[in-house]
Amino acid sequence: MTRHLLVMLSLLVVMTRPAVAAELRDVRLWAGPESTRVVFDLDGAVQHSVFTLDNPHRIVIDLHGMSPESVRVANRAAGQGVVQRIRSGKRDEKTVRVVLDVNQPITPRSFSLTPSDQFGHRVVLDLDVPLSMPTARVQKPAVTLGEKLITIAVDAGHGGEDPGAIGPAGTREKDVSLVMARRLAALIDAQPGMRAVLTRSGDYSVGLQRRVEVAREYQADLFVSIHANAFRKRELRGSSVYVLSNRGASSEHARWLARRENAADLVGGIEIASKDSDLASVLIDLSQSASLEASFDLGGRILNSLGQINRLQKTVVQQAGFMVLKAPDIPSVLVETAFISNPQEERLLRDPKHQERFAKSIMAGIRGYFDHYRPQMPVVQSADSSLIMRDLP
Ligand SMILES: [Zn+2]
Repeated sequence: MTRHLLVMLSLLVVMTRPAVAAELRDVRLWAGPESTRVVFDLDGAVQHSVFTLDNPHRIVIDLHGMSPESVRVANRAAGQGVVQRIRSGKRDEKTVRVVLDVNQPITPRSFSLTPSDQFGHRVVLDLDVPLSMPTARVQKPAVTLGEKLITIAVDAGHGGEDPGAIGPAGTREKDVSLVMARRLAALIDAQPGMRAVLTRSGDYSVGLQRRVEVAREYQADLFVSIHANAFRKRELRGSSVYVLSNRGASSEHARWLARRENAADLVGGIEIASKDSDLASVLIDLSQSASLEASFDLGGRILNSLGQINRLQKTVVQQAGFMVLKAPDIPSVLVETAFISNPQEERLLRDPKHQERFAKSIMAGIRGYFDHYRPQMPVVQSADSSLIMRDLP
């Protein structure tokens, strides 16, 4: 009787075990100023567990239900950021243990992601560096001679494991957006009374909400997000500029585009549970309408100057529900510089001369905004640090 039960039990165990062991395809590391991300690419969903060890500092991740060959794949990965070295071995028949040697005590965060776009199943390990303010993003000091510098948050779209759109010749949106963002930041820094803050200064992923937070931490006066558009019809081309809409989009294309750009968090791997959309929508209603008018002004000026160097896809500023434009108190625009899916425009986007032209056009729009629409800035630094409705006409 007992023996029968045992046989049945072991049969059950055999039957409930996953039919095929999962394969580790790759281990990728992205080192950003605030966090190092380790991504395990898998060909199926697996369970995982994480813990830390001290002396020396280590982070241990056990991947369950894995094939033994996965050890070899993990051992190929090299250290980056806070991770000095990666080692891996078989923990038991079905478990691969990966040990990360880290250079400081770190509390890891981990989560699983299901397939999205070009990515399959992933286990993501985020190793946050305990640092209150990010470094090396701002060149200029915040205050000179009692005057507050005008601060422009320049946001390079995508980054890290999220390449953004990819052109027919293989150009990645995340690369060209970063180059143009850097050029724009340099032009801004060269203006007296102005400084730029880059929300991302290298090839790593930054969540859409985090980008907005960075702008607010630096009390940015404007937020400019730089992207390249893409569509399945390769003949589509031209520059366009977007501002936020809370109710509906200007067109089907605008709606579709916002959905695609907002998916960056899914591709780039942000824990969905960490989003606080309720708070966001309350804040938006408080002061959005005033900064939306300013956003339209800025967007129109950028669009006009882009029209002098490139064809325009839309001759008026478009609206859609872009996550990254949701700072309630900062006028924000998203610039789709050109279509990376169009072979001619892809060439423009990778040409340094044209990258500079795009940056200069955006700069001209920003300057026009401060010369004509909001000429009273820069303001004298006051003790009042309240952000909402600050400096609005
Ligand atoms: Zn984009």
